[in-house]
Amino acid sequence: MSEVAEPLNNAPETLNRLATPPEPRQIGGTLVWYYSICRRQAWLTAHAILPDEDDPNIVYGRFLHQWYRNTAAPRKSQREVLIAGNRLDLVVQENGHVVVVEVKKSDRFRDSARLQLAHYLLTLEEHGVRTEGELHFPEQKKRERVRLDDALRREVLQVRRDLQDLVEQPAPPPPKRISWCARCAYAEYCWT
Ligand code: SF4
Repeated sequence: MSEVAEPLNNAPETLNRLATPPEPRQIGGTLVWYYSICRRQAWLTAHAILPDEDDPNIVYGRFLHQWYRNTAAPRKSQREVLIAGNRLDLVVQENGHVVVVEVKKSDRFRDSARLQLAHYLLTLEEHGVRTEGELHFPEQKKRERVRLDDALRREVLQVRRDLQDLVEQPAPPPPKRISWCARCAYAEYCWT
C-alpha cells in the first residue's frame, strides 16, 4: 500500500514513521529558501508533510505571485519555467540574455531569497546556461541583481550538502521560536 502525506494535526510519531527522505535530485529552490530560514520547515516540506493550503500567508503568497506574473511582470517574460525539479517564478529576456526572476513579498529574508535564486543560477549553470538573477519585491517596489560569483557558488553548494544531511534525518529538528514563526503556515503545528 502506498504511503500518503499526513495532515498536520497527526502525532509527531506517526509523522516520523510515514516520512521518507527525498532523493537528492528532489532538493529544489523552495527547500533552499526554507532551509536558510528554518531547518524544521525544510525537513517537514522535504518529507511532504505539507501545511494547510488555505493558510492566509500561503493564499496571499499565491495571489501575489499570480498577480505579478499576470499584470506587473516585464513584457518579455516566460512564466513559471520548470528546470530540474525547480519552478522558476519568471524568466525575462534582456539584451539577448535571460535573467531569472524570483518574486518575494518583502526583503525581510533577503539573504534567504538570494540563496534560493543562487541555487537556480547554479542549476542552470550545471545545465550549460550561465545567467544572472534578479530579486523582485513588488510591495516595496524594490529589485536587486544577483550574480553567481565564487563565494555565492560555494555557499549554495554547502547549503545543498547540509540540506541533504538534514532531510536524511529520521525526525525533524525541534521547533525554535524565530520571527518567521508569526507568518509560517506550520505555526499551529509547531506551537499548539
Ligand atoms: S513555526 Fe517556526 S519553528 Fe515551526 S516550522 Fe515554522 S518557522 Fe520553523
